Order: sequence, then structure tokens, then C-alpha cells
Amino acid sequence: MSRTALATIHLGALRHNLARIRERASGARVMAVVKADGYGHGLERVARALDEADAFGVASIADGLRLRAAGHRQRIVVLSGPDAPADLAELRRLGLEAVIHHDSQIEWLVADRDGRPLRVWLKLDTGMHRLGFAPERAVEVHARLRALPAVHPEIALMTHFAASDEFDNALTAQQIARFADATRGLAGERALANSAGVLGWPQAHGDWVRVGGLLYGLSVVEGKCGADFGFRPAMTLSTRLIAVNRIRKGERVGYAATWEAPEDMPLGVAAIGYGDGYPRSAAAGTPVLVGEHRAAIVGRVSMDLVTIDLREVPAARVGDAVTLWGPALPVETVAAHAGTISYELTCGVTRRVLFAED
Ligand code: PLP
Repeated sequence: MSRTALATIHLGALRHNLARIRERASGARVMAVVKADGYGHGLERVARALDEADAFGVASIADGLRLRAAGHRQRIVVLSGPDAPADLAELRRLGLEAVIHHDSQIEWLVADRDGRPLRVWLKLDTGMHRLGFAPERAVEVHARLRALPAVHPEIALMTHFAASDEFDNALTAQQIARFADATRGLAGERALANSAGVLGWPQAHGDWVRVGGLLYGLSVVEGKCGADFGFRPAMTLSTRLIAVNRIRKGERVGYAATWEAPEDMPLGVAAIGYGDGYPRSAAAGTPVLVGEHRAAIVGRVSMDLVTIDLREVPAARVGDAVTLWGPALPVETVAAHAGTISYELTCGVTRRVLFAED
């Protein structure tokens, strides 16, 4: 028998969120970022629901292959590749687009004798200091790429924001200005904004927005959840109570006996743990729903199980549904209790969890 933990993916929410992004960034085309297995929601499932997207963004050629195998004909951009010279042939074979961010990739393109031009995106590092050419090199690198027979003459221009989730952070304004200065006069489509860029930086919507989190109804804006901006969560993570016990005042719960019962009380045990991707770092007090009632985790999260304070839900019984996150309990709330962000939680749901769609 499979385990009880279940991730239900709400396809209508994915479609709703894409429509909301189009409203917010009208005039821009939408690259649906589906890396990390569609932020943990399932790559093929997400791509099927979002087939209206203008392009897909992935982190590996393998994901591009999966999308092509599923029949998607849109533009697909490998956001950090090629990683090795041999990748060029694979990119061409699959009709994928490359992000050129480093001189080593240009050397591979120079040595490439295939003859068929590859579509590329030139990435500039305007302040994130992860991938990209220095802005002052934009004109030179652009010219170099345009001169290569291995490169399609229409070169798109992109950069990535480091702190766009803080709507008053001067770094984003600086990144926008640096990008504009560096690319002035260069031909090619512009792509700057991620999810937070769509929400907070309309001046950066450009020709394309590259959106991940918001498609899944996730927010990275501190203290806010996707629903606060009109987006719907696309995942519910749930399980069931497999035991309801009574413990006495002063008894301790779970590994390392970290939590002490303040009174005689009912304690529920639910079939989910860090082996399913529920974060071990979720502190005592992290909310869950038992049926429709709010309750809280107590003690350490273990591999297969969590323990729940049922004092507020005295009628709870074995078999009752337990929701870990979903539309009625924002994953952002759980993430805040676990000291992480919502993205890490949805990406972390493991393969032993059963996936369903509605
Ligand atoms: N663009 C690039 C280059 C990325 O790496 C990512 C994701 O990290 C995105 C866009 C999408 O970001 P978000 O999920 O915040 O919309």
C-alpha cells in the first residue's frame, strides 16, 4: 500500500495564475519557469496546464527533452546552459535556446562547426553577481555573438534581479538602470522581471517576464502570501491521522523529547514527515489543519510522522484529514515557521508522496 501523504495539484489555479500574470504584465510575453519539476508540482502536469505560455524556462537540457517528448512546441530556454561543449548538439537537436553568460560558452560556439544557428539569450550581471557578463561588456559580447555562424542573429537580452521582492530596494532600480544603459541601441528582446518583478517593478516588464513562483501561487514577499496578490495556491499537501493518543501533563514528545505537555491532552500522529518533504525545521507551533480546524505541530518532525496538539480539536479521530499546506493554510505561513521560503517547500516534496490533480 502506498503512503497516505498526498500532493493535490490544482490545475485551474495554474491557469488562473497565468491569466493574472498576463493582466499584470500586459504587453509582455510570459516565459513559464518550470525548473525543478515545475517547482515540485510535476513538470509535465504543469506544462500541460500552462500550454498557453509563450515559452518555458528550464534549468537543464533533460527538462527540455521531457517537454519536447510531451509534445510542447513553444520556445524553451535553458536558463543556465550550455554547461559543456557537447550540450550544443543537444540544444539544436531539441530546438532549445541557450543562455550565454560566460566567455567559455562563447569559445564553445566559436569552435562549433554545425552550421545551423542556435537561438541565444545574452545574460548580463547587473548586480546579482551570480551569472552574466559585466554590463560594460554588453556591446562587445553582443557583436561577437552576432558574428558567429553558430548563433541565430536575433539575440535576446536578459538580466536577473537579486532583491526585487523588496519593493523599495534601491538595488533593483539600479539593476534596471544598468541594464538599460548597457543595452541601449542593441537589437533584441528584453527580459528582466521574475515574479517579484512582475508584482513590484512594472517599469521592468520588458518584452518578456520570466515567472515561476507566482504561477504556482507562491509569494516571496515577506509577510505576504500569493493570495494577497490575487494568486491561487496550486498545491495542497495533505495526509491523515493514523493515531490519536492521550498524554499526561509533563510527558515529553518525539525525538530528543523537546516538547513537554503542559496538561493532560490529546495528541494526534499524522503520516507525513521529512521523508515526504515536510520540513524537519518546522518548529513547535507550526500550524496544520485537522479537518477544517487549526491545530499545531508539537515536538520534532520525524521522517514519516508528525505529532499534533489536538486540544483545540477534541473530536479528532484516526482517519481524519490533515492539511499541511494549501489554499486554506498558506505554504508561506509554514515556511515562516520553518525558517525558509515557500519555494523550497514545494520543490522539496519527495517522490514517495502520491500526486493527484483536480
Ligand atoms: N529567471 C531566472 C533566471 C531564474 O533563475 C528564475 C528562478 O529562480 C526565474 C526567472 C523565476 O523566478 P520566480 O520564481 O521568482 O518568478
